[in-house]
Amino acid sequence: MNALRRRLQPGLEPEPLVGPGPRPALRAATGLRAATGWLLDLAFPARCAGCGREGAALCQACVPALVVRAGLPGGTPIGLPSETPAPLLQLEWCAPFSGPARRAIHALKYDGEQRLARPLGRAVARRWQAAGAGGDLLVPVPVHADRARERGFDHARLIAEVTAAELDLPLAAILIRARATAAQFRLDHTERAANVRGAFAIDPGALRRRSVAGRWIVLVDDVVTTGATLAACAGELLAAGAAGVSAVTVARER
Ligand SMILES: [Zn+2]
Repeated sequence: MNALRRRLQPGLEPEPLVGPGPRPALRAATGLRAATGWLLDLAFPARCAGCGREGAALCQACVPALVVRAGLPGGTPIGLPSETPAPLLQLEWCAPFSGPARRAIHALKYDGEQRLARPLGRAVARRWQAAGAGGDLLVPVPVHADRARERGFDHARLIAEVTAAELDLPLAAILIRARATAAQFRLDHTERAANVRGAFAIDPGALRRRSVAGRWIVLVDDVVTTGATLAACAGELLAAGAAGVSAVTVARER
């Protein structure tokens, strides 16, 4: 994990935000979730989001589809037209947004199958372990509060919690949606950038605690398409003094 701890600016040591690993409250929440998950497994056995087989939220046969890029070095081009969208330092993803990866993300977001956060978060951790050039704080891309309320959870945050535990990195949900946005998949490239401009803000509490300044932040999200959302989040974090912002997602949509 030493590579992950490399910093953009050697000698710059911001005060630790939450120390290595999740906060005690987060650990308790994760423990509670594990216990709840166990009870849920008893009452409602999971069905694989990839192939429908009963047993696990994602079966062993479908997991490999989620980590097809796990072993590739960082920045491996796969013939996509767009480069890393500025101002991101690095953008990595685990799999194309198709097959079991797509079905697993949909089942988590729209069917509320929260057990999928585990295999998805692990896939993100594996990809970042292999390809991440650095970073010292994970930050999930937030869904709008209304949508989180409707669903009862924030899917990117659930994924990021698993990733943070796997990578032994701190997690801080310091971004908030300043306003609702239209669904990005309905828009073209130019519209997407305009749609998310000014859509994100940093939790004022995090600014007071100086949680952002000097940090190399790694954004975590489920799917990246043009990268407009990640770029908008990165812009806010850099404006608040982040040393750099990279991003890793479960899937990339062509
Ligand atoms: Zn399966």
